[in-house]
Amino acid sequence: MKKKSLGERLKSLFQRGVESEELFEELEDNLIEADIGPRVTMEVVSELRERTRQERLSGREALLGALKDILAGYLKQTELALVPEVLNVFLVLGVNGVGKTTTIAKMADFYRRKKEVEGVVLAAGDTFRAAAIDQLELHGSRLGIRTLSQAPGADPGAVIFDALISARAQGDRLVLADTAGRMHNRANLVAELQKIHRIVESRCPDCSYRKILVIDATTGQNGLQQAEIFHDAVGVDAVVLAKYDSTARGGILITLGHRLGLPCAFIGRGEKYEDLLPFDPDMYLNELLGLI
Ligand code: GDP
Repeated sequence: MKKKSLGERLKSLFQRGVESEELFEELEDNLIEADIGPRVTMEVVSELRERTRQERLSGREALLGALKDILAGYLKQTELALVPEVLNVFLVLGVNGVGKTTTIAKMADFYRRKKEVEGVVLAAGDTFRAAAIDQLELHGSRLGIRTLSQAPGADPGAVIFDALISARAQGDRLVLADTAGRMHNRANLVAELQKIHRIVESRCPDCSYRKILVIDATTGQNGLQQAEIFHDAVGVDAVVLAKYDSTARGGILITLGHRLGLPCAFIGRGEKYEDLLPFDPDMYLNELLGLI
């Protein structure tokens, strides 16, 4: 059975006209169910309680309006605009299976088609899995975008270094680099990412270099743990929420914004290239809370 969305749950909660304390308790459960996470939920609900009391709020509209306002203060957004005149490097991070390769292809398509950026290239930095290299190359050939890769097992730092040299030589504007995401071997993963990070920083000091973390909307609060690991390892600049095809969950963006200060740049809502949308906090909150 399809899980009810937070918006649907809130609607029935308000329709029942429950007393305020019961309402706040149920609201807590509902926000946790929507992946906002217990700690952030407690803060949200206590702020809402306080505002309800101080501003004497009552009724669905006033309460949902205040809730939306509080959540908006927790959410962070970034446009991830390309810096002109320099080579932009996006190192794309994430655990295997979250939708990283697909997201790279979607972003390449987005910048080229929507932003009319010429000279977008892909770098196959997940050399651990032969399938990841093949998949990136397949996307590259479908999109007519150059993919720079080496044989499986090659040093990912070398692949990305070569990609930077090649992109500079060709006057490209954007390198989207894939990375491995083997979570079961966390120490190796972190060491490898730190090495790549040092290479990009030292070999391309005049590049605009950003680290983008892909989070799977269906993995719930695991997303917070994943973000902490990648953020600690190399520092994350922006998040892409993949597989956000339904609004049943997705509150993780509020947790990531509030706990780690991480802004969201895009959300992925399907498997097609055009299913990547720039993150719109107002639309996201309206959908999450069932306000549309
Ligand atoms: P990676 O291992 O992180 O590189 O993950 P992939 O890019 O290979 O994606 C794993 C699966 O998720 C593939 O079947 C993708 O088609 C699918 N996928 C990726 N993004 C989305 C999305 O936004 N919505 C849906 N429904 N599926 C997605």
